[in-house]
Amino acid sequence: MSNTTNNNNSELPPIKSYSTREEALDDVNKWALPRGYAFTIRRSQSLGNERTKLLFGCDLKALKKVSAPMKEKGQGLRNKSSKGTGCNYSILCVQSLNKNSWEIRYREPWIDQSGTTIDYSCHNHPPSSGTGVEHPVLRRTQLKGERRDAVEKQYNAGNKPRSIQSYLKTNFPRDLAVAQDIRNAVAEFKRSRKNGRNCTEVLLTELEQKGWISRPIWYEDEPNRLLSVFFAHPRSIEYLQLYCKVLIIDCTYNTNSGEMPLFEVIGIDASSKSFCVSFEFLPGETEGDLIQALNHLNEMLGEDVRPGVILTDKAESIRSAVKAVFPEWKALLCIWHANKSVSEKCKGNFATAEEWDEFMKGWTSIVSSPTVEIYLEKVKKFKAKWTPTHLEDYMYIEQNWLDSRNRACIVSAWTNEYLHLGNTATSRAEGIHATIKRDIETKNIDLLYA
Ligand SMILES: [Zn+2]
Repeated sequence: MSNTTNNNNSELPPIKSYSTREEALDDVNKWALPRGYAFTIRRSQSLGNERTKLLFGCDLKALKKVSAPMKEKGQGLRNKSSKGTGCNYSILCVQSLNKNSWEIRYREPWIDQSGTTIDYSCHNHPPSSGTGVEHPVLRRTQLKGERRDAVEKQYNAGNKPRSIQSYLKTNFPRDLAVAQDIRNAVAEFKRSRKNGRNCTEVLLTELEQKGWISRPIWYEDEPNRLLSVFFAHPRSIEYLQLYCKVLIIDCTYNTNSGEMPLFEVIGIDASSKSFCVSFEFLPGETEGDLIQALNHLNEMLGEDVRPGVILTDKAESIRSAVKAVFPEWKALLCIWHANKSVSEKCKGNFATAEEWDEFMKGWTSIVSSPTVEIYLEKVKKFKAKWTPTHLEDYMYIEQNWLDSRNRACIVSAWTNEYLHLGNTATSRAEGIHATIKRDIETKNIDLLYA
């Protein structure tokens, strides 16, 4: 064995036994630090019977440059380059048969295919300064416990990474942290806050203080992670009980930087003015998620409320969820959503704004047909006008909105019976949506996604 060699480049840490692998790596690094080296775990190998063998190698082993930029959450694009020298210096850390301890072992020299002897006890490069600052693995190991707590405190007090770094230098012996380590630690706090309780607690406390009713649901296996949150203002609920003939339901994805869809309920009062009833951040937009949100709405309505009309978009998931929770209510389609879909699908096919406006006028006029006879007449004219030049756009409308199921949910000739408030109930929707988008962008809500 070469561990007795006194050559600075070929010394191995003492053979010792440790109770944990972390303790083993920590201790060999304490030994390596003043010598100008550092170990990282390079390989983990199963020995069977749930025992493990670890390879602790010189941190300058890596040679290959990772050319593809690695995307790390919250850190944007980061190029990983390596200062590796291809150093083979390494030792083994083997779990004992009874799995109670970890033992350091040396590696026998190896002769590779080209006949070259690889001596695992030799570095192929000079040592570093011996302070440890050149070794990220040592800096990371050091930035734990009270040092990490100190960084968090300083960060919470509003200090910048540079000044946190000098704080550590002054207050802790031989501190190795560079500004980038502090930035990494801060990014980690932010991540854990976003997913953890801190941030959602802030949101819920604020809503509570402002008199909102909120109902957070946490993940079963991760009790600190928010699954969904329902919230409503008590005055909205009082108002809802007075005016609950027509409700508009919307589910949008793009209200925030998070990925939770926002489920909104909008009411219409006697003077055709809209009001926000409730919001709910949902885990997804599946039928199950929507049923949960609709059940919350049902609870708010109370038991003695008589069935009214619910307006939604054309998505099958929301339509079947409404049918499941509000079987007695009439489910209709919201004209605002319909216009948005028609616009997304067809607008690009029209050369001029005038032509597009005319097409939309025709469509809107069909939707507001007061009787079936007038409806049939209007569709006939619309078809004759647009099929020669915009067959595809006409077919989109005919197949997606004027089939027997959907026209009964959107064209006045069929819906007037239910929409006592007339078209105002739906034409108001555009304004409502704009108001809600604005309300939702308040800082309270952003807190969840900061
Ligand atoms: Zn080395």
